[in-house]
Amino acid sequence: MSPSRRSVALLGATGSIGVQTLDVLRRERERFELVSIAGGEQLSELAAIAKEFGVKSIAVKSERHRADLVELVGPGVEVVVGDEGLHDLAQRSDVVVNAVMGFAGLPVTLGALSAGKRLALANKESLIAAAPLVAKVRNTIGATLLPIDSEHCAIHQCLASSPGAVGYPDVKRIVLTASGGPFRGWSEEQLKGATKQDALHHPTWSMGAKITIDSSTLMNKGLEVLEASALFGIDVDRIDVVVHPQSIIHSMVEYVDGSVLAQLSRPDMRLPIAYCLGQPERLAYAYGELDFSKAISLSFEPPDGTAFPALGLAYEAARVAGAAPAWLSAANEVAVAAFLADEINWCDIVAIVASTMDHYVADPLESLASLYESDDAARRWARASLER
Ligand code: NAD
Ligand code: MG
Repeated sequence: MSPSRRSVALLGATGSIGVQTLDVLRRERERFELVSIAGGEQLSELAAIAKEFGVKSIAVKSERHRADLVELVGPGVEVVVGDEGLHDLAQRSDVVVNAVMGFAGLPVTLGALSAGKRLALANKESLIAAAPLVAKVRNTIGATLLPIDSEHCAIHQCLASSPGAVGYPDVKRIVLTASGGPFRGWSEEQLKGATKQDALHHPTWSMGAKITIDSSTLMNKGLEVLEASALFGIDVDRIDVVVHPQSIIHSMVEYVDGSVLAQLSRPDMRLPIAYCLGQPERLAYAYGELDFSKAISLSFEPPDGTAFPALGLAYEAARVAGAAPAWLSAANEVAVAAFLADEINWCDIVAIVASTMDHYVADPLESLASLYESDDAARRWARASLER
């Protein structure tokens, strides 16, 4: 590897963010070398990526997956296993892209930051669940956390015009934009008949199944409120959500002098991915370029908090703090998986999260062990409420 090339670990390489990251890396081979990858079930995809990019190490879920993958890649590629494998690979590269889905991405977030690496974070669930623990490892020398989530990447770019004092005193509020998802404008009555096919049909973004369902319930926006608060150290009372159906303004920052800064592009996740890889430079490929020679309309409306109660649950979890956000996110993972497996109706997803939150046991989240206990307890309550 030439000394100027940055080594990259892409953990969660076979999913929606993973595939789009590979697309960016293909255009930037002189700047980046993909050295390690990870994935859940898709072993032949992992083997194909390893071959194409000359990857040196791969993390998989279990010993069984490891044995099968070794058959495909041969003895020249290191194959590591489980949470330890993810944590280990996250500690070895200059840039670590966390594109794993769900709480399973936690070892990547903690591994990269505690080793002083740049973490390009798509996996919002790990930050939301472990916010106080992540805050500690972010202090490691060299550790940098850059958000791939498009709204947070937009805010990160807008905040560049701020002196960056702790808590951003000159920021009046952050305004997160939401597409509104496939059910924007649906009444509570209509939502009772929402099908899986309806919910998986996102109007503006093409994403993995879990986040697409989260977008349909607005839980994704609720999780993003928690994510923004943890990332920027700004209280949720200074974070608002506005529905912007075109998904062109990716979020905004309003300053105390009335100025509102925004970042715009057509919806294309390769733009925030390239931003996080390239910082402080901008990579010269215009993903999501806007064509102002044609008419573009931008509209805004308030979210419907009654039809979509997930947003309110997320604000509540933020105010309770401690492990409450971890409970919310864990219960949501269980409920969304059950919905995708045709075990429950769409309306049950947020109902299960709400009933799980009713059982929340206060936990200040001082250790990793207590986080795993909390995650486990929330999942048990969510499953119990599924069965009812
Ligand atoms: P996805 O389901 O398409 O992909 C998930 C990836 O994680 C796959 O590569 C899968 O193999 C891997 N994975 C799952 N469990 C694993 C485990 N235990 N060990 C190793 N790998 C594992 O999901 P996605 O849509 O790409 O989303 C990934 C993350 O990025 C999520 O946290 C999501 O909220 C966030 N995100 C996604 C988008 C998007 O456009 N897709 C946008 C913003 C944020
Ligand atoms: Mg987002």
